[in-house]
Amino acid sequence: MESKIITYPLLFTPGPTPTPEYIRQAMAQPTLHHRTAEFEMIFANARKNLQKMLNMSEILMLASSGTGAMEACIVAFSSHTILSINSGKFGERFTAIGKALNRKVVEISHEWDTPAHVAEVEKALESHSGIECICLQICESAGGLSQPYKEIAKIVKQHNPNIFVIADGITAIGVEDIDTTYIDALIGGSQKAFMLPPGLAMIGLSQQASNHIESHSNGYYFNLGKELKNQRKNTTAYTAATSIIIGLQAYFDMLDEKGFTHNDIYQYNTTIACATRKALQAIGLQIYPKNPANSMSVVVSKYAKDIIKILKTHYNITIANGQDRLKDKIFRINHMGYIPLHELSFVLNAIELALQTLGIRQFNAEANRIFFQNLRL
Ligand SMILES: *Cc1c(COP(=O)(O)O)cnc(C)c1O
Repeated sequence: MESKIITYPLLFTPGPTPTPEYIRQAMAQPTLHHRTAEFEMIFANARKNLQKMLNMSEILMLASSGTGAMEACIVAFSSHTILSINSGKFGERFTAIGKALNRKVVEISHEWDTPAHVAEVEKALESHSGIECICLQICESAGGLSQPYKEIAKIVKQHNPNIFVIADGITAIGVEDIDTTYIDALIGGSQKAFMLPPGLAMIGLSQQASNHIESHSNGYYFNLGKELKNQRKNTTAYTAATSIIIGLQAYFDMLDEKGFTHNDIYQYNTTIACATRKALQAIGLQIYPKNPANSMSVVVSKYAKDIIKILKTHYNITIANGQDRLKDKIFRINHMGYIPLHELSFVLNAIELALQTLGIRQFNAEANRIFFQNLRL
């Protein structure tokens, strides 16, 4: 067989994120059958660790990308009307799933740099009867914005405790300490802060949510009641995403071995995200969202397309473009997972050098100077 050397680019997109060597090694072990005591033990451990990390009463793992879990939650927690908070591509997706499933969708929609307001949610709840669940992103990855999910979830429960709060935490889990007090379903995905390959979705459930799915059987593949019954016995209704679940357990083991708690990671993430934003602003770049999340830094620039291209061709760094209406208008740099400082420093240097290449600004290492000045680790 002809051998081929591939030089992998430095992957700096907000999903998928790079998988560390430790996790890749764990997933490279010989295949385990999913209906065996060996696998069930790994499944049980991963479940326990997720439960502790998400602080939810029950945990489900599904073999699908994150969108599958979004659909599964709408199937499980609504039969006719949903309220969708849309400040970007992923909020738009909840609306689209609702419509595809023939639900009536009440939508609060905003520009992709603008979060929703609690008052609008209150008004929507008052003017539309029959809303069964509200769907929102904790971090909306389209523009890297943070939604006021705690305040929104609280107002929903105060209005009517029977309305289910479905929170897409795909780019918030593993980045920030999520307050789950008023959340019924918290959705996660393997390819973001867990640093795993895509293909595994997780859902944390409140007691109220698990009671509901146990007494209302809906859907076939995405039947959360059927999954809950199986997963409480550490097995799955259909073939489990075995290798990714093994990788997930390795993620928890890796943190243990390094002596990191999730709080350490949240602290680290906040620090590097704030320092990155300051560094980008110091070289004249503008942060896109009005309320930025810490899972990524998003810059709005008329040179976005050129900067992305220079990073790729001159420095072999892959960052993310905007999607749909934001294509070529923004670029997104990942902070999820445990990003080494020297890698982020290299990316900031490359961006500053790209500005020089484009004739916008003379390079003087200001981005790195400000970045390191703001790291109080
Ligand atoms: C990545 C992502 C998803 C899930 O997308 P998939 O491609 O289905 O995994 C959902 N919501 C947000 C906010 C995301 O960032």
